[in-house]
Amino acid sequence: MVKTLTPLTSIRKNCTDCMGENPKLVQQCVDTDCIIHPFRSGRRPHNKANTLKTIKEHCLNCARNENNEKSIKAVKECTASLDSEWPYACYLHPYRTGNNPNRVGVGAISSLKNTH
Ligand code: SF4
Repeated sequence: MVKTLTPLTSIRKNCTDCMGENPKLVQQCVDTDCIIHPFRSGRRPHNKANTLKTIKEHCLNCARNENNEKSIKAVKECTASLDSEWPYACYLHPYRTGNNPNRVGVGAISSLKNTH
């Protein structure tokens, strides 16, 4: 189930998929132009970069509009969910807009009702 993957686990799985399921190659990846490269081991880098914002930026580079421009609309319309059919599915799909669907409502004022 996709929603049980954390954003960091999703990046790790995405990179492992990218490297032909070879974890050693993920560690050895030299594509430092890839914005998720610092997260490829499944841990946050020391510079405390924001994981969700980084995934969103990665998706903005991936899903372009008809003029090959960055487009949040194109990201939102991406159909590469793991639930979708082959030829392509993407581990980053749940987090593509920079939000975490697993945390919807967490910390909201409404969640504090009836808790005293
Ligand atoms: S979720 Fe879609 S836009 Fe984001 S990296 Fe995957 S295929 Fe690209």
